[in-house]
Amino acid sequence: MKKILLIATGGTIASEETGEGLAPEISAAGLLDRVPGLGRGFQVETAELLRLDSTNITPEHWLLIARCIVERYDAFDGFVITHGTDTLAYTAAALSYLVKGSPKPIVLTGAQRPIDVDSTDSKENLRDAFACAASDMPGVSIVFDHKIILGTRAKKTRSKSFSAFESINYPDLGVIRDGAVLRFIRQECGDRPEFSGALNTRVALLKLIPGVRRDVLDYLFEKNDAVVIESFGVGGLPEAGGFFESVREWQGRGRLAVLTTQVENEGSDLAVYHVGHRLKSDLGVLEAYDMTTEAVVAKLMWILGKTKNAPEVEQLFYTPVAMDMFPR
Ligand code: ASP
Repeated sequence: MKKILLIATGGTIASEETGEGLAPEISAAGLLDRVPGLGRGFQVETAELLRLDSTNITPEHWLLIARCIVERYDAFDGFVITHGTDTLAYTAAALSYLVKGSPKPIVLTGAQRPIDVDSTDSKENLRDAFACAASDMPGVSIVFDHKIILGTRAKKTRSKSFSAFESINYPDLGVIRDGAVLRFIRQECGDRPEFSGALNTRVALLKLIPGVRRDVLDYLFEKNDAVVIESFGVGGLPEAGGFFESVREWQGRGRLAVLTTQVENEGSDLAVYHVGHRLKSDLGVLEAYDMTTEAVVAKLMWILGKTKNAPEVEQLFYTPVAMDMFPR
């Protein structure tokens, strides 16, 4: 019988009405009790880790979740983590780096409606997540609305519908039909996961808008080790207003600039337009290509937790982890 650890962190799935909005109140054991037959066929243990709306989740919590898995890794066959949907994609990406190459399933799930509401999606998502955690699907994934999505490729694309998540620039790993896992893709893994216990949280994200001012970028560079710039289309920076100078100056002071795009699908390609070309050829900024912003942010925190040496950072950034980017 497969041994599954259910790790509860909060989210809508565990929420109740407080009179001032929904807040997570239900324990892992409470979730199990509410889904008849969920534990049948498995040996389930629970870990009451957090009770947070995922808006309140920080990188410290990612480390806590990773540590919870690490400490119990040998004792279980699979892990189910219940989590709020709002920042679920960030946590899934972070765990993909912190517990890299796991041969065992690490499955994140949540819900758009609380478990005690009649129209809830919580019960189906929990059943599916357990089926996936008991399968031979390795690595970190999100199970939601019957889909299995690679942890490094997930994005919340709907704020209310049950189909809240999509896999960006990569196919779904599989689906779950009537409790059976139908696997389309098997992600690569090692014999043992490689655990990391450090993150550098001095990473910021700037979403460009027309008319953005250079001082916003300067401020973020001043306060952080890396700034991810979500630019427009395939990527670039406004040619007026001192943006190129800002990047040059701060890179000279050891800061890292990473260009990505606000466009969800197909990724960046800085070489295409004059507004982007020079960023790579002269300034040597990194670009995200087909990675999600969630994965870029988590990967940078993970890399900068290991090294600040620029060539090493670049090499690690462009090395695919859990298929977070296509190899180039
Ligand atoms: N605000 C909730 C959270 O992210 C939303 C959800 O779980 O669906 O914790």
